[in-house]
Amino acid sequence: MHLIITEKNISAKRIAQILAGEEKVKTTKDGNVFTYSFDDRTVVGLKGHVVEVDFEPGYTNWRSTTHTPRTLIDAGIVKKPTEKKIVNLIQKLAKKADLVTIATDFDTEGELIGKEAYELVRAVNPGVRINRARFSAITPAEIRAAFENPVELDFDLAAAGEARQTVDLMWGAALTRFLSLAARRGGRDILSVGRVQSPTLAMIVDREREIENFVPQKYWQLSLTTEKDGTTFEARHTAGRFTDYNAALAAKERTKEPLVVTEVKEGQKIDRAPTPFDTTTFIVSAARLGFSAANAMRIAEDLYMNGYISYPRTDNTVYPGSLSLNGILETLKGGVFDKDVVWVQRNRRSTPTRGKKESTDHPPIHPTAAATREVLGEERWKVYELVVRRFLATLSPDAKWATTQYTFDASGETYRATGGRLIDAGWRRVYPYSEAKETILPGLRQGEKLPIKDLKLEEKETQPPARYSQSRLIQVMEELGLGTKSTRHEVIGKLISRRYVEGNPLRPTLVGRAVIDALDNHAATITEPEMTRTLEEHMQLIKQNRRSRDDVITESRQMLHRVFDNLEAHESEIGEEIMEQTAEEHTVGPCPVCGQDLRIRHSGGSQFIGCSGYPECRFNISLPGTAWGRAIRTDKTCEKHNLAHIRLIKKGARPWDMGCPLCSHISSNIEALHLMPSMTDDLLQRLHEKHIYTVSDIAGISPEELAEAVGTDIEEAGGLVREAEDALEILRRRSELRKLVRKIVPPRKGRSHAKIFRNLLEEGIGDLQALSLAEVATLKKAGIPETAANELLEEARRISSERALREAGVPAVSLKKYLEAGISSPEGLCYLPIPYLAAKTGINPETVHKHVDLVCRYLGRPTPPKVSRQVIERGRKELLEIPGLGEATLQRLYLAGVYDAETLREADPEEVSSITGIPKARIHDYISHLK
Ligand SMILES: [Zn+2]
Ligand SMILES: [Zn+2]
Repeated sequence: MHLIITEKNISAKRIAQILAGEEKVKTTKDGNVFTYSFDDRTVVGLKGHVVEVDFEPGYTNWRSTTHTPRTLIDAGIVKKPTEKKIVNLIQKLAKKADLVTIATDFDTEGELIGKEAYELVRAVNPGVRINRARFSAITPAEIRAAFENPVELDFDLAAAGEARQTVDLMWGAALTRFLSLAARRGGRDILSVGRVQSPTLAMIVDREREIENFVPQKYWQLSLTTEKDGTTFEARHTAGRFTDYNAALAAKERTKEPLVVTEVKEGQKIDRAPTPFDTTTFIVSAARLGFSAANAMRIAEDLYMNGYISYPRTDNTVYPGSLSLNGILETLKGGVFDKDVVWVQRNRRSTPTRGKKESTDHPPIHPTAAATREVLGEERWKVYELVVRRFLATLSPDAKWATTQYTFDASGETYRATGGRLIDAGWRRVYPYSEAKETILPGLRQGEKLPIKDLKLEEKETQPPARYSQSRLIQVMEELGLGTKSTRHEVIGKLISRRYVEGNPLRPTLVGRAVIDALDNHAATITEPEMTRTLEEHMQLIKQNRRSRDDVITESRQMLHRVFDNLEAHESEIGEEIMEQTAEEHTVGPCPVCGQDLRIRHSGGSQFIGCSGYPECRFNISLPGTAWGRAIRTDKTCEKHNLAHIRLIKKGARPWDMGCPLCSHISSNIEALHLMPSMTDDLLQRLHEKHIYTVSDIAGISPEELAEAVGTDIEEAGGLVREAEDALEILRRRSELRKLVRKIVPPRKGRSHAKIFRNLLEEGIGDLQALSLAEVATLKKAGIPETAANELLEEARRISSERALREAGVPAVSLKKYLEAGISSPEGLCYLPIPYLAAKTGINPETVHKHVDLVCRYLGRPTPPKVSRQVIERGRKELLEIPGLGEATLQRLYLAGVYDAETLREADPEEVSSITGIPKARIHDYISHLK
């Protein structure tokens, strides 16, 4: 059997289809992993890395005194499977294989993934032949060629990847642990440090400092407006920026008509067609269309896996000679881009454009198949179209501009106007992403005199450098050799998810700054790009087999030890610096009660704002649970309360701005306070003045305290406390009802749960009990669709019945048995015959009677008489003696209250028949047999 291992499931499927040609591919699912078979071949996809590197056991305890952060540097490294099912399947298949082909992506990462697969195969089948298929696009031509000419796995390339994996693990884990422990941060607040991540963060922090330290300089610009044949246009003073206001003003005053044309310069400008896409330029261009770097790469990868574009991780900007540009044009012809393709074919430039970087691994990103908007969907289409148009642009002629420059003299002051007109759109016809702005000036002759319509002196300021956008940052990272084409966008994503940076353009958060400051002061190596660049260079040497993996790792270990020498010497200092800088991160503003700091506190899944004066000051504001997003403070402040606004952030969701926490706390509690019958606007105001905002605040204080706070007598205050307790109960029930509605009624546009809930309240339905008694029509009126209304009623009835049974005193263990037997309401227990209940649940009849008694009392009904186990046993024998009466019939008779000869004799056959479904005649037969 020939086993083929690819990087992902989707590529396995496509490669199988291509290699199978006409033949049918058999898809098998084995423990959630798909395999694709045809002929003698089986293709299976990995999930990228299926094993990961980790420290040998014993290093998980962060606070271990023997295994300090520094010991991680020399800790043994082990590989362990992360995708057990895939690993098992590969090994199962590998045992039967006589040839294995590794067909993972062709780059360092792909080679390493391939080597991991290689090791898994070797472990179970040491003798099998293993080769490697290399391709840059999952297209029929490339795939067939790759499998016809397989090569060997490149162990040097894989070793380079392994070196990076190990170094990253060691640096990241040791430094993260050290810094987090020093600053006493754990859980979600750990301070992560990384070999590429930290220098990248440092760049963002540095830029922010530059902006903050920037002192704007004033300058003045002088310009005039003139006119020829009804066309007005602007000319600027040739001095450009005046830094001296008086000089500018003097120049303005000297500017007098006539405005004489002193020079006319006409020319042409070539507007070069863009170069082929490498990863960085692709990300930058996609950013202009609104895609974040991570999103652009995710979509590009998806397009690659599905065969629409070539491999999107490439540093190459020169089309290799082997790439058939004609073939690609033919592929695109006839489709959506037909007109553009035909135009390019007719006007094609002699050689395609080329960028500065040329490498041999992958070609620049280019389309590999035709597609349509319908097939791809909006987002993928936008990215695909960008790749197609870029490809077409690289084969198109340059654009040409006609330029005009006029120089004027106005009584000794010189002015200049520049115009540009597109005379040949060239590549711009097929690549509309960058705007071509024309400035068309009227034709002028030298010596011509023009009027001055307007003269303007504008005051301006120099601007600070701009913050980095994601795509700009990726460009700079590339220039500095930080990260690789495959990892740069991921690094930025990590900085965002770890809340070191926020916004776009990117700004550092307080924590981000604190970490960089601490590292800058005590371990500058980590924030400077040199170290990381050195490693990238070493990796190149490993790839070329000029250095060994272990040698590079050893050197890196030594470097990290030197870093730790410095860090450990200043541990407490570093911790204090960070803690001091980040305390502010959680501080919201002054406590309205005592004036000390209010801070955001997290504990488990809940979060709240508490006073730092606790326990002396107990003021606090509740916040929605972290499931709604983690609370952070923003830069905005409430003018009334002087508190920072709160935002809830959650990965993958739009942030939720709560505004001022106190304003929102007050307004969201007013309705609840009005549930108290004695609540008046005046009382509300007095409560607010004393910072008592919620029903539970009132319920939680003593009548004495409350009387003092709002100026009533103790008795009245006691009444208020009781009212608050009642209101809390109502709220508790409402929230239970709300939860149920939210669970059952599907949300839809224009039908929010809040609205439905308000309607229900208006109908007097404020808890589950009320809901269980409601009619479907009422629920429909409240905006709930019929099916959901029925389900809601059923659920409410079930819950309130269960609750009633529990309240009546039926013990939990027995309750469970009744429910399992389908007896879920108090009525059921009270009205169903005891033998039936006992038979259905297996509970002793005496015990059943005890429960029935409890429930009947609860319902205010008389309790039926006891039926003992002996009576039932005897009756059972009596009844089973009747010919034709078996166990099944007996069970049915129980339901009708018939459990022995006597009850049968006295029964009304008609009634028994209607309850049990046994024909009347048969019941007559049973009775007559008794006689
Ligand atoms: Zn306080
Ligand atoms: Zn406020």
